[in-house]
Amino acid sequence: MNADRTDQAITRTVPATRTPHAPVRGELRPVADGVHVWRPLPGVGWGLANCGLLTSSSSAAWIDTPYDRTLADQFLALSRPLLAEGTAIDWLLVTHGNGDHLWGWEAVPDARVVYTGAAAAHIAHEPDPCDLHRLVHDADPDTLVGWYLSRHFGRYRWPETQLPQPALTFSGEVEIAVGEIPVQLTQLPPAHTTGDLIAYLPRQQVCFSGDIVFAATEDEAGDHPVHWAGPLENVIDGCDRVLATGATVIVPGHGPVLDRTGVLAHRDYLCHLRDRVHTLHAAGVPAPEAAHRIAAENHHPALHLPERLSITVGLQYRHLDASAPTPMLHQMQALARLAWQLEHPGVPVPS
Ligand SMILES: [Zn+2]
Repeated sequence: MNADRTDQAITRTVPATRTPHAPVRGELRPVADGVHVWRPLPGVGWGLANCGLLTSSSSAAWIDTPYDRTLADQFLALSRPLLAEGTAIDWLLVTHGNGDHLWGWEAVPDARVVYTGAAAAHIAHEPDPCDLHRLVHDADPDTLVGWYLSRHFGRYRWPETQLPQPALTFSGEVEIAVGEIPVQLTQLPPAHTTGDLIAYLPRQQVCFSGDIVFAATEDEAGDHPVHWAGPLENVIDGCDRVLATGATVIVPGHGPVLDRTGVLAHRDYLCHLRDRVHTLHAAGVPAPEAAHRIAAENHHPALHLPERLSITVGLQYRHLDASAPTPMLHQMQALARLAWQLEHPGVPVPS
């Protein structure tokens, strides 16, 4: 703990026990012929990602999975009544390698898993599910990082979750036939992660953007974008690639389903964010202070988790400075520190 932290501050602000989590329930909503979107409720919070269900007369697919087996089993229970007789989830098309889009795969163990080769490399490099389970559930909630991990990730469980063996990895583009539904998978340059893809259904004009888009609308809140690979120019280009498909329905990685206008509004926000970062960087403002200032400006109040600016701003600084990637633990500390500062202004930050 910091030497200047008072006992009063400790007892007032640090939870003595782990934060209880509201249960997550998903809804499966149709968005086009043979296409449903599973949306977790609540719709905001780390790890609460959208998934797709594609159903045809002879096959079916998921696009991404929920974050853990419990949520994936919920999604599967909602999927089964929509499958044509004699069909199963044959394909699992994964937009990128973050666990909140993949780690529920054991609910559909016979599905052929597809992601990019770059995503495969990313997955091999990241902490695996069991590692993250221990990190989250064994963390001391009286530490800064433990406090943050417990409250945001403590609802998920991966004590024995393994990683899948993909049936297909690819670079560039590939088309998958889910029965009579063609799905065009297109790899993007490094943006949200190093292995992103977008999945476009030309017959339905639906595009699953993965985490290139974090959506919010006037009616439904969302979460602040967090990007790990970048730079932000590549995320903005990714939005353009989504729009260039011609899609009229865009399913973001997180948040409500959008139309083209919604994607353009998100793109505008990313451009605003990039420009603010560049201005503060040019003025010599350190990255953590820049993230704090931009969060305090509250430009987009419909987006939750503003502390994620610490990661996205830090990412853009690294690209501007051509510096090495920051270790994950350092990113988590910066994230938790900003969350604490925003929630407890003036209270010393625990160590
Ligand atoms: Zn995600």
